[in-house]
Parts: sequence; structure tokens; C-alpha cells
Amino acid sequence: MTESAHQDTPEQVEFREHCRTWLAANKPGEPGVRLPLSPLEIMTQEQLDYLQAWQKAAYDAGMIGCDYPVTVGGGSRSDCQRIANEEMKGARTPFLPNVIGLGMAAPTVFYHAQDELKERLLPRLFSGEDIWCQGFSEPGAGSDLASVQTFAERKGDKWLINGHKVWTSLAHFAEWMILLLRTDRSHKYDGLSYFVVPIRSALGNGVTVRPLIKMTGETGFNEVIFEDLEVDDSYRLDELGKGWQVAMTTLLHERGAGDLKTPSAGGMKSKTTHSTTTSSLIDLARNTMRNGRPALEDPLLRDQIMQLIIREAGLGINQRRARVAGLQDHPSRLLLQNKLLASEIAQDIGALALEIAGASASLYLGDSNAPAGGQWPLSYMNSYGMTIAAGTSEVQRNILGERVLGLAKSK
Ligand SMILES: Cc1cc2nc3c(=O)[nH]c(=O)nc-3n(C[C@H](O)[C@H](O)[C@H](O)COP(=O)(O)OP(=O)(O)OC[C@H]3O[C@@H](n4cnc5c(N)ncnc54)[C@H](O)[C@@H]3O)c2cc1C
Repeated sequence: MTESAHQDTPEQVEFREHCRTWLAANKPGEPGVRLPLSPLEIMTQEQLDYLQAWQKAAYDAGMIGCDYPVTVGGGSRSDCQRIANEEMKGARTPFLPNVIGLGMAAPTVFYHAQDELKERLLPRLFSGEDIWCQGFSEPGAGSDLASVQTFAERKGDKWLINGHKVWTSLAHFAEWMILLLRTDRSHKYDGLSYFVVPIRSALGNGVTVRPLIKMTGETGFNEVIFEDLEVDDSYRLDELGKGWQVAMTTLLHERGAGDLKTPSAGGMKSKTTHSTTTSSLIDLARNTMRNGRPALEDPLLRDQIMQLIIREAGLGINQRRARVAGLQDHPSRLLLQNKLLASEIAQDIGALALEIAGASASLYLGDSNAPAGGQWPLSYMNSYGMTIAAGTSEVQRNILGERVLGLAKSK
């Protein structure tokens, strides 16, 4: 029984049973290709096809968008996404590829778009048929997001967009982008407006997507260049000049707050995926020989692993606290702590794994002699992105210090 099953309402009991039965019969088999560590590194059409087919099947079975109204393609259920997530995680399903769509675009569109637009966009977003990306960051606007310069100039009931977005995950497969733009240069915050933009149909005709290569050799994010892209005013969300407020809805949900739960990232463990946890670290230490003995027998190393186990257990407790209604006095207090802890622990686990593997840590994917198929150096390098994406560790600490604890502002 999962942690929360004993609190289920009769509707939730029935729904949980449905999820469990369906997953037992329909969980997808091993993919024929290597899957990336997260949706942010999907590179090939084969990877996407496998993951999109899984998302569509899970949507058709009623496990995605459960708490959204039926009119926008949801299930009109009450607090059932949480249950679907627990069951998908327990069944170790693959992750859902439309991660930006589900976690950020869906709640933003739901709260800020006109009914006709929501009804048109959300069903294909939930099913994963339309992949979404997020056009916020620019070369001169990352942590200081309100400095966005990509500009939309009004032309009657159309807008002409020019500018440069960067680090745009999944733009190479995306049909749609959530886009934060400047519509007035004389006001920093009130000069921003928020649009949804069909980018795929405009490729080569106002939109250029250029993949950026990560130090892992993967291409998960991109530069996106807008040159005189014409967009209809009906794609604007909320009022002109209210882009900052709309962006806050996106960021609140990106951090896991907000009342609409994001569908699960799954929990698949298979030959083709890898988990950055202390239990995989212990496996590595058990199977790596050091001075003629398994590395796990080295007392100094055992101590380092124990320190990480303690931090990981602390994170687990904090994640449970984030689900307790009475502890949500500030919308992002526990969520920001958890993002910070999870990304930094993963980085430290990766660093210790490379130390354990020693010289063989230099063997990478595709090398049959590489420990764990070369996934450790891959996850270690990718872990650096996780302490930057969705706000850097420094910025999370600033927010926790200034807005949660009320400390004096940094200069
Ligand atoms: C894997 C990955 C995926 C991403 N996907 C997307 C995406 O899909 N869409 C999108 O729009 N963006 C995406 N991003 C971009 C991400 O949001 C930005 O990288 C992030 O907000 C930081 O901005 P920046 O890179 O411009 O760094 P900067 O803001 O230039 O920061 C540089 C350094 O200065 C520090 N710093 C900045 N301000 C402060 C301050 N006030 N106090 C202390 N230190 C400070 C930062 O911590 C950092 O170390 C992604 C990034 C990564 C790594």
C-alpha cells in the first residue's frame, strides 16, 4: 500500500484500483533504444516515438490531466492525479516526454487562456501528441528573467516577433512554445506579455531552432531565433502587460506548487536507464575492486556513502513534508528546499561514483568495459544542469533567505 492509500476517498479507491489494473496489463516493455536520463535530453525520433506512445496510452487510460475539467480534455476528478502518479511510480513506468507541457504550459493555459484556446490546446498537450517548450531565457535574461528583450510589435490584430531565446529544452520536437515577450520597452515588469506560439509550423518561416550540444554530447536544448514571426493576438494569454504575472503561474507550477498536480515522471528502472541514488552507488562500490577488495569495504568510503545516505533520507522526509497541507505556509518554502537538496545531492553522488570508479570513470556510453554502461559520467555531467535549470542554486538560496526567512536583501 502506498503512503497515502489509507486516506483515499471512495472515488479515489476506485480510481487507484483502475490505475493498478490497467498498469499491470499495459505497462510498456523495454524500449528498443537507450532512453536518456530525463525528458530534457530526448535526442532522437526513436526515443520520442517510444515515450510519446506511452504518454498517449496513459492519457487514453485516464491517468493524465485527471483533475482538469472534461471540457479541456481532463477527467474532472478530485485530487486523483496524485494517485495516478503514485501508481505510475510504483509500477516503474517510463517518464512522460511532454514534461514542460504538463508541468508548466497546461496550468498556465488553463488559468490564463480564453476557453476556445484551452479546449483546442489542452487535449493534445495531455496526450503528448503536441510537445511543448518554454521560451523564457535569453542570452541576457536568465536569473534576471524580467530583462527579457525578445520584442513583439503590434500590427493591427497581429504581432511581429523578433528576438533570441536560449536553453530551450525540447524546442527541436515542439509544436508549441510558451513565450515571454516584451511589448513595451519603457516598463520593465509591466512591459512584458505572454503568448503561446505554434513554432513547428513556422520553422524556416520566422522561426529557427538550433540545437546546443551539452558536455555529455547530447542535444536536449536549443537556441530559438524569431525573425518577423507573425502571431495572431488570439494567442496572447491574459491582458497586455500582464506577462510577468502569467509567468509567475508557470514558475509556481514548475516548482511543484499550485493546485493542479503535474503528472508523474514515472520510476522506470531498466537496462537503458540509470538512477543517481545511494543504492546504485553501493552497487558500484560493491562491484569495484580496490587493492584486491571490493571498494565497499574501505572504511573511509563507507563513511562518505553514509553521509550521502543521511542527506538523501533528509530529502525524503522533506519531500513528505511538502505533501502535508498544514506545512504550506509559504507556497515555495519546502519545494525550493527540495529542488536545491535533490540537485546538489545528485551532483555529490555522481562525484563520489566517479571517485569509486577511478580511472574506469573515463569510459563512457558505448564502451563495453565502462561501469554501469558509462551512465555514471553521463549522470554526473548532467547533474550540473539540474543545479542551474529552473533557477540556479544561488538564486534558490536568495529566494529562501529573502522571501521565506525575511532576511535582508542581497546587494
Ligand atoms: C538543463 C537546462 C534546461 C533548461 N531549459 C530551459 C527551458 O526549457 N527554457 C528556458 O527558458 N530556460 C531553460 N534553461 C535556462 C535556465 O532557466 C537558466 O540557465 C537559469 O535561469 C540561469 O540563467 P543563466 O543561464 O542566464 O545564468 P545567469 O543568470 O547569467 O547566472 C550566472 C551565474 O550568476 C549567478 N547569479 C545570477 N544572479 C544572481 C544573484 N542575484 N545572486 C547570486 N548569484 C547570482 C547564478 O547563480 C549563476 O551562477 C535551462 C537550463 C538548463 C541548465
